Amino acid sequence: MKAKHIVIIGAGPAGLMAADVLSASGMSVDVYEAKPSVGRKFLMAGKGGLNITHSEPMSDFIRRYDKPDWLKPMIDEFDAQRIVAWMENLGVPSFVGSSGRIFPTQMKAAPLLRRWLSQLKKRGVRVYCRHTWQGFTDEGYLRFTTMDGEKRVASDTTILALGGGSWASLGSDGAWVSILAAKGVAITPLLPSNCGFKVTWSPFMQSHFGKPLKNVSGWVGECEKKEGEAVLTTYGIEGGLVYALSRPLREEVLEQGFAMLYLDLLPHISEEQLVLRLAPSGKQSTDNTWRKAGLDGVKAALIREELPKNRWSDASCIAACAKKYPIQLTGMQPIEEAISTAGGVMREALTEHLMLCNLPNVFCAGEMLDWDAPTGGYLLTACFASGAYAAKGVLKVSATH
Ligand SMILES: Cc1cc2nc3c(=O)[nH]c(=O)nc-3n(C[C@H](O)[C@H](O)[C@H](O)COP(=O)(O)OP(=O)(O)OC[C@H]3O[C@@H](n4cnc5c(N)ncnc54)[C@H](O)[C@@H]3O)c2cc1C
Repeated sequence: MKAKHIVIIGAGPAGLMAADVLSASGMSVDVYEAKPSVGRKFLMAGKGGLNITHSEPMSDFIRRYDKPDWLKPMIDEFDAQRIVAWMENLGVPSFVGSSGRIFPTQMKAAPLLRRWLSQLKKRGVRVYCRHTWQGFTDEGYLRFTTMDGEKRVASDTTILALGGGSWASLGSDGAWVSILAAKGVAITPLLPSNCGFKVTWSPFMQSHFGKPLKNVSGWVGECEKKEGEAVLTTYGIEGGLVYALSRPLREEVLEQGFAMLYLDLLPHISEEQLVLRLAPSGKQSTDNTWRKAGLDGVKAALIREELPKNRWSDASCIAACAKKYPIQLTGMQPIEEAISTAGGVMREALTEHLMLCNLPNVFCAGEMLDWDAPTGGYLLTACFASGAYAAKGVLKVSATH
């Protein structure tokens, strides 16, 4: 086998999973990381509960990705069941939440990361932090900046797992794009995904910023309706439902400068039922009639924002508005504030083993690849799976030389 010294750059979930697979196969692995410690975005992902994967059947699971054909072979080899087994092997039990999402029992990423790093250390994986990759020297060495100046590192095989471009303070700043583009690697520009969108609310809505809009469904154009929760903010709107729709919303914003998000504020009753519930009765105030029909708080405020006062007792008009509530989104939140990034190294730039066609023996994995998915455990699953797949690619390519 030819690969003697494997360098992995980027110690997020993708890079560490590549190190896991390679070290388990007895390979000598060095991991280089720009930040003073590893897995910072992974730890951040664990702050609100680490949703590591999802329990739904593979046929549904794979449809969440924008490039299911590309990701299927990777996720087939490292699916939710294997992620659960891998965690268990590290002594980290998990559970399936009511929505089918899977979490470690302790919810946080830190205990899992600690055990994972300890296993990698036992297998001889060396981790070098504060090493920022700057590209290649003319002689083909990897070039890093460190606290002690520039360092050149020789590598038989390299796996790049440098992340996307969101939350740059956690390490993945997308600086690799210009390095690889200069080598002729085809890259789709990095764009915010799973992000909030801008809306110009009237001052009347201010008192509702930060309050959740619960049990609503939403859609964009012809795309499938999604159910979930959204939150109105000073800049616009965010939350699980908006993130789930961020791909079609982003496409509309890029195409026409704005996007139309439609909400069904009461998805569990029909428009006809709502008209009946909203019919004025006796001395009941408008507020009371609306509240009893399910339109109170943020939902009622939205109706008032949209409809002129002289329609507030028109049951048909209110019901139509509540069942197809239009919100014009005027832009995306910056990539810095997005949970993940779309875009990255294009499938065409890679071999089936995730090796760069232009740079033999350099592989790529994780969020830096050009795929996109909603939150719900799909991001981490694809990062683990592509990290493992790139590592197996290294083993296969090495075995044939
Ligand atoms: C707030 C938040 C919550 C999230 N919650 C979830 C969740 O619940 N479930 C889910 O599935 N996903 C979640 N995600 C997304 C998930 O964390 C990412 O998709 C995942 O961490 C990406 O893994 P990665 O290994 O590809 O990249 P990263 O985790 O970004 O790791 C890349 C590493 O490469 C290093 N690096 C970058 N450039 C260089 C360089 N030039 N030299 C050396 N090192 C470099 C970085 O410092 C970083 O450590 C969340 C993200 C955020 C921001």
